[in-house]
Amino acid sequence: MNPTLLQRWQQVTEQIDKACIASNRDTVTLLAVSKTKPAQMVIDLAEAGQKHFGENYLQEAAEKMAQIKEQASPEVVGNIVWHYIGHIQRNKTRDIAENFDWVHTIERDIIAKRLNDQRPDNLEKLNVLVQVNIDNEDSKSGCLPSELDKLIAAIKGYENLSLRGLMIIPSKEGTDAFERTKKLFDEIKQAHPELAQWDTLSMGMSGDMEQAIAQGSTMVRVGSAIFGARD
Ligand SMILES: *Cc1c(COP(=O)(O)O)cnc(C)c1O
Repeated sequence: MNPTLLQRWQQVTEQIDKACIASNRDTVTLLAVSKTKPAQMVIDLAEAGQKHFGENYLQEAAEKMAQIKEQASPEVVGNIVWHYIGHIQRNKTRDIAENFDWVHTIERDIIAKRLNDQRPDNLEKLNVLVQVNIDNEDSKSGCLPSELDKLIAAIKGYENLSLRGLMIIPSKEGTDAFERTKKLFDEIKQAHPELAQWDTLSMGMSGDMEQAIAQGSTMVRVGSAIFGARD
């Protein structure tokens, strides 16, 4: 028999707990990546206590959020924290600034500036991570490590953004990307004591969450291991 959604979610949380114990780490946040999956699955998990959800596509996310608002209780809706983890087009920043709590994929100053300018006054600061192209891949999004200092200096000045850390999607070749990103993360923390909220390293997905946690990840982004394979 196939495990149910709640069983898979439970298994993933246990895997994370074990990985934390094995490497003597504090709790790691589980971001449930619900892209391509229906609103009802998000509601089921949210009712079971899952808090953080990640989406990659704006249109899909907007429809899902609207459905969830209609179908779930206000408490459940109010407890969900939405993370945008997809590529950001310049003309889509307003939708992101108005509907999400976190953005993992900042790679250019112009995008950060637009999110800052478009963040509504009645909302808390938008939590942002800089996506780093840690393996210098031509095909990958993200800021090159050599450009990171400049980008961080710019984002620091934006009042409506809270700069929380770094995000990576490592190359498939299996390098030491997790270790190198952790080193960068610690160096930036040292160099910028004024970044009071610098506490988040978003790395690790369904296939490599244990390794990522062992190397210092504080947030794993898990899709298929929870929701099943995507079509
Ligand atoms: C889809 C996606 C994930 C989840 O991937 P799985 O392998 O299904 O866990 C994580 N991060 C990003 C940026 C994604 O687009």
